[in-house]
Amino acid sequence: MACTFGTGMSGVRAVRRSLADGPLARVLTYHRFGDSRHDPFCVAGEDFAAQMQLLADEGRAISLQQLQQFVAGQASVPQDACLVTIDDGMLSTLTEALPVLQKYNVPAVAFVSTALAGRTASVGPERYLNWDELRELSAAGLIEIGSHADTHRSMGLMPLDEARTEMQRSRQKLQDELNTEVASFAYPFGTHSDFNPATDAALTAAGYSVAFSSIHGSVRRAMAPISLPRVKVEGGESLAMFDRISRGGMDAWCVVDRSLWRLQRVRSEIS
Ligand SMILES: [Zn+2]
Repeated sequence: MACTFGTGMSGVRAVRRSLADGPLARVLTYHRFGDSRHDPFCVAGEDFAAQMQLLADEGRAISLQQLQQFVAGQASVPQDACLVTIDDGMLSTLTEALPVLQKYNVPAVAFVSTALAGRTASVGPERYLNWDELRELSAAGLIEIGSHADTHRSMGLMPLDEARTEMQRSRQKLQDELNTEVASFAYPFGTHSDFNPATDAALTAAGYSVAFSSIHGSVRRAMAPISLPRVKVEGGESLAMFDRISRGGMDAWCVVDRSLWRLQRVRSEIS
């Protein structure tokens, strides 16, 4: 079993304990939508539609506000509830994802790197949404806009003062341009080296009340609302696989993920 790999019984116990802890919610991470085959960051439009229909039919789609209330212990959520998040603010968030979300009435959060608005992407076929398009996305009502920093660089690998500036500047730009309150953040890249307790504290000081990493895992009641884990949805996954991961079927990997990170750190301290 995956959960025993490299972790022993303590890993198994950690997974069992987390499963016994009551209802869990999952925050799904998407990036782009369209026909790019063999691109794990791009989910085909028809696959996304089937996934959203599944969540809608089963009453499992929740909003950011519902997730925050769940984490704060103020509200319950349906079994295996899912919040849809879309990183990077690419054009297909508006052209492909929004119509599907509207069709199935599924709320979502789009995390935007403000300095990249309207620019050509360095990887992939798409460009970033410009401010007019971001206003259109925000005005549609179903997608809340959050910050993905200003320049999409790692908050954990830059000097803390610079990270603070990125957090403050991106929030201010979004609020000024979109005329809406912005209090959510997704760490660019979001791996273990891209955030730490100091960047978490800086986010709180900058006015954010919820933030997400890219560490795989489920969200539980009473978790710290800054740097919540997520579950990445990859292009080419079957609907059965989507159903499985959206119900925590890969959660054991979160333990493996942590163990590998520890191992990596031990290695880097040795070398
Ligand atoms: Zn990103």
